[in-house]
Amino acid sequence: MGIPARIRVSSAAAQAERYDGDLPLKSLPRLVELLADAGGALRVSLQAQSREGHVALQGSLGGALPLACKRCGKSYDWPLQAEVDWRLVADEASERALMQDFEPLLVEDDELQLREAIEDEVLLCLPMLPRCESCENIVAAQPVAAAPVEEEPRRENPFAALKKQLKSD
Ligand SMILES: [Zn+2]
Repeated sequence: MGIPARIRVSSAAAQAERYDGDLPLKSLPRLVELLADAGGALRVSLQAQSREGHVALQGSLGGALPLACKRCGKSYDWPLQAEVDWRLVADEASERALMQDFEPLLVEDDELQLREAIEDEVLLCLPMLPRCESCENIVAAQPVAAAPVEEEPRRENPFAALKKQLKSD
């Protein structure tokens, strides 16, 4: 089974559907905006199943995403490797209850926008400051400038101030 745009949550779990395949980057418009080039694809491998009364989608997202290096402007392939452990929930109470241990995804009308959820996950994984390997090495090799030692601003001891005041009276 490829990667459908949306899935019916109850039947996905009942049939333990598995979504394996390549999702063209072109089909993820919000992600494409951040890429240096829209060629290529995401490798998606997700398994739906019932887990402790909830529907789980677990698996991984991977691929080489073309990013533009912020330092030299060259485009390079950034390796994405993300583990996914979603719990599909129908209401906010369950969302809050699961938040501690899993990544809950709120689902409406038994329908999950699967490609959008995948795209959201990838967007969260992207580096804030993309740097190609050679720039990364240059940056890593630079000695870290010693941070100036912040001196605690001198504050007058309130009792000393009080004493001074008493003396002058
Ligand atoms: Zn670079």
